[in-house]
Amino acid sequence: MKQRVQEELSDWLAEPPAGATVYLLGAGGCGVSTLGHLMLDLGLTVSGSDLKANAAVRQLQTRGADIREGHSPEHLAASRPSLVIYTSAIRRDNPALRRAEQLGVPLLRRAVVLAALLRNHRGVCVAGMHGKTSTTALLAYVLRELDAETGYAVGGEVPQWERAAQLPTGNGFFTVEADESDGTLCEFHPEQAIVLNVDEEHVDYFSNLEEVCAEFAVFADQTLGTVFYCADDPRLVELFARRPGAISYGVNPAAQYRVESLLSVGADSSFELWYGADRIGGFQLALFGAQHISNAAAAAAFLHHNGFEMEAVAAAMASFRGVGRRQQLLFGHRDIRVFDDYGHHPREIEATLSALRGLRTERVLAAFQPHRYTRTQHLLEDFATCFTGADQVWVTDVYSAGEQEIPEVNGARLASAVAKQGTLAAFSPTLSRLREQVCMVAQPGDVIVFFGAGDITQVAQQVAIDLAADSESAAKALSALLSPDSLVNTNEPMAKHTTLRVGGSADFFVEAASEADLAKVLKFCVARELPLLVLGRGSNLLVRDGGIRGVVVSLAHEAFARFEMREDRIFAGACVRLKTLANEARKAGLAGLEFLEGIPGSLGGALCMNAGAMGSMIFDVVESIRFIDRMGGIHTRPASEIESVYRSCPLLKGNIALSAVLRGEPSSDKEVAERMREFSEKRIASQPGARSAGCIFKNPEICPAGRLVDELGLKGERVGDAMVSEAHGNFIINGGNATATDMLELIEMIQERAWAERGVRLQTEVQIVGE
Ligand code: FAD
Repeated sequence: MKQRVQEELSDWLAEPPAGATVYLLGAGGCGVSTLGHLMLDLGLTVSGSDLKANAAVRQLQTRGADIREGHSPEHLAASRPSLVIYTSAIRRDNPALRRAEQLGVPLLRRAVVLAALLRNHRGVCVAGMHGKTSTTALLAYVLRELDAETGYAVGGEVPQWERAAQLPTGNGFFTVEADESDGTLCEFHPEQAIVLNVDEEHVDYFSNLEEVCAEFAVFADQTLGTVFYCADDPRLVELFARRPGAISYGVNPAAQYRVESLLSVGADSSFELWYGADRIGGFQLALFGAQHISNAAAAAAFLHHNGFEMEAVAAAMASFRGVGRRQQLLFGHRDIRVFDDYGHHPREIEATLSALRGLRTERVLAAFQPHRYTRTQHLLEDFATCFTGADQVWVTDVYSAGEQEIPEVNGARLASAVAKQGTLAAFSPTLSRLREQVCMVAQPGDVIVFFGAGDITQVAQQVAIDLAADSESAAKALSALLSPDSLVNTNEPMAKHTTLRVGGSADFFVEAASEADLAKVLKFCVARELPLLVLGRGSNLLVRDGGIRGVVVSLAHEAFARFEMREDRIFAGACVRLKTLANEARKAGLAGLEFLEGIPGSLGGALCMNAGAMGSMIFDVVESIRFIDRMGGIHTRPASEIESVYRSCPLLKGNIALSAVLRGEPSSDKEVAERMREFSEKRIASQPGARSAGCIFKNPEICPAGRLVDELGLKGERVGDAMVSEAHGNFIINGGNATATDMLELIEMIQERAWAERGVRLQTEVQIVGE
C-alpha cells in the first residue's frame, strides 16, 4: 500500500500538472526548505509558512515561493495546494495542518516526498547517525565539479553553494541525505547507498539499538545496487559484511577500500585509498579529524567504484570547504580559533574534541547546549564523560526542539555530572551569560568550540564578532613574516579588484612580492585555518556583498609577471595579461594564441578557468604548468598529465599556478595580426563595453547560453542596477550601482526561466565567492 502511494507520487512528480501548488509547513527547516527548492526546480508553484522568516525562507521567497510568517489556515486555503509537505517538528494541532486535513489535501512527510522524487532519478542515499550532512555535501560537491548533470539535497548550509538542493539534469546522480531520526529511512529505494555508522540515537523514536539496526537493514534491502558501509563500525560489519555486493571502506585492514597514511597538518588532512594491492589515489582535505577522513573515504570509494577518474576527484575534494556548523571555523586570528559545531550526540562531541586536540593548541574550551530533553535524559552518563578532551566546559539549559520539559533533566545537572568526571565545568543559565563567560576566559592559544543543534550558534557567531574586533593584530603578524615589498591589508573592498565592481570586503588582502612570500602566506593560512582565495585580474569573479572571510592573495606583483620568448615557446608568469601573451606571440610570428586577445584576464586565471574563445582554449597551447600547493610545495607538471575540461582545470582548484610554458605554431606575423583583427572586430560587435565578468553561464548542450537568454526574451531584464546586456544575452552588466545581490537575483531568475520554459539547467561560469 505504502509502496503504491509512493509510486503514484513519483509519477505525479515526474509530470506534475500545470499550475499545481505545493504547500510547505515549516518552510524554514533545513529539510523542508531543500524540498522547496526541488519543487521549484520541477516548475511547481510553492507556498507555505513558518513561525519565523529565516534565511532559508528568504531564499525560497527570492525564487518566487509565497512563504508567510506564522502558520495561517487562511493562507493555506487560499493557496489551494495539491499537497502539503510537513516536517516531523510540526505538531498535530498546528492550525494550518488542521485546515489541510479539513480540506482533504494529502499531507505528506518531507522524507516521503524526497524518496518518491528519488525514484525518478539515479538516487544515491547517504545514511548514518553521524556525519551524513558533511558526507552528502562532499560527495555532491565532487560530483557537481565532475558532472554538470548531478543533483543533490543536503540538510545543511554549504557555504560554497547558492542553495542546498538542486534536481539533477539528464542522467546524473541525485545524492541525498537520508534521515533516520523519525523512522522515514525505509521510505527510500535508492540505486546505491552509503551507510556511515549506527548508534543509539533518536531515543524519542526508537526503543533500542536493535530497532535502529533493523531500520538500516530494511533500508539496505531496498537499495537496488551497491551498499557502501564503514568497516570501522562493528555494528555495520555485523549488519552488512555478509550482504552480497556490499562494499566496505575504512581504516580496518579488512576493508575493501582501505584508508592508509592518514595525516593531519593544521586544519588540513590527507590520506591514501587502497583497493586490495592497488593504490587508488592520494587525497587532501581542507577539513580535519578522523571523522572527515572516513567520510571522504566513503565518497572516494563510491566514485572509484562508479568509474570516476581519481585525479579529478582528488582535485575537487581538495577545494571543498565543508558544511556550515560542522566544525565550521568562524574566527581564526589572534591565535584564538572559534568553531561552530552541530554535534549534539556524545559520540559526535567526542570525535570533534579529539580532532580539535590534534590542532596545535594550548587549550580546548567547549560550550554545549543539550538538544531535546529525551536525548539528554537517555544519554546523560555518556554526555558526562564525552567532554574529557576539553579543558573547560560550559553547559547551557536544554534546547527543547518542541519537546515537553522532563523534570530533573536540565543543564545544571549535566554540568555537575561533567564536573564529577574531573573536567572543569560550569552551568550557564542564559546564552548572553555564556557569551560573557567565554570572552572573559579566552586567551591566545585557545580553541573554542560551541556544540549544539539549537540556537547556541548565535553565541558562537557573536563571540567570533567580539574577537574579530581585534583582527588587526593578525595582519601585523602576517606582515612581519613577509618581505617589506609584500602588501597586507585588512578589510579590503573587493569591488575595486574585480571587473564587475561589486561585492564586500576581504578580511585580509595580500599582494605577495615573491614565490617565497606566497609560500609563507599559504603556510600561515594552513596554521590558522584561514580560507584562502587566489586572485588574478578579477575578470571572472562575482564577490558576494558579505565579503570574503579569510585571505585573498593577489598575484598582481611584477614578480609573477615575468615573460620570456624562446623560439616557439613562451615562458610566462601567472599574472601576465592574456592580451600581452597574444601580442607578444604575434610579434614573434607565432600562431595559436590569437584568441586570447580580448580576454581581460591573467594567465593564472585563464589556466584555472581553462579560458577559451573563437573555438580555442588555453590548454590547446599549454605545454607545462608550475604550481604551488597549499603547504608551499612547488611542482611542475606537463599538460599531458593535467586534466582540463570545459571552463575548468581541477588541478588548480586546490593549487595555485605560478607560471606556464606555452607553445605557438610558427607562422607569418601578418597572418596572425589579421586573425587577431578579425577576432577583435567580432568581439566589439557582439559584446558590451560596460562593466561585466564576461559570460555568466556555461553553454548548455543545446545552444549557446547567450542565444537561449535572448530567445527567452530576457535581454534588457534587470534587478536593481544589474542588467542583462542588450548586446549579448550571456553578459550581465553593472549599470554603476549594482550590488552582488542584484546580480545573483538576476542570475537565479534567468536560471529559473531557462528551466521552466526550456528544461535547461544553466550552470554559472562566473566564479561566485564570499558570503
Ligand atoms: P580571476 O577572475 O581573478 O579568477 C578566476 C578564477 O581563477 C578564480 O577561481 C581564481 O581563484 C582562479 N585563479 C586566478 N589566478 C589563479 C592562479 N594563479 N592559480 C590558480 N587559480 C587562479 N573568459 C573566457 O574563457 N573567454 C572569453 O572570451 C572571455 N571574455 C571575457 C570578456 C569580458 C569583457 C570579461 C570581463 C571577461 C571575459 N572572460 C572570458 C572571463 C575571464 O576574463 C576569464 O575567465 C579569465 O581567464 C579570468 O582570469 P582572471 O585573471 O581575471 O581570473
